[in-house]
Amino acid sequence: MRCYYCRSKKVVKYGKRKTKYKLKQLYGCNNCKRKFVEEKDYERLKGGKKINLIIKDLHSRGLSLRDISHHLEKCHNINLHHSNVLRRTRR
Ligand SMILES: [Zn+2]
Repeated sequence: MRCYYCRSKKVVKYGKRKTKYKLKQLYGCNNCKRKFVEEKDYERLKGGKKINLIIKDLHSRGLSLRDISHHLEKCHNINLHHSNVLRRTRR
């Protein structure tokens, strides 16, 4: 387990955060002092804000989630499951 921000290994468990669906493990970094959730959750942050904008744009133009997911893979080399695409249209 490494810090999401600085890739430091000085990471400690920081308790849990309750979401609608499940409990998520929270971690704190002793190097940069930031907090983040477990690794698998980063899936939905792939590509950052730029990709979020593209997703929202395509979505507002009526493309299906699968089409958007396909477009991201072809044009931006980003693999996002369409359920993650859906989540990002709501951000
Ligand atoms: Zn850090």
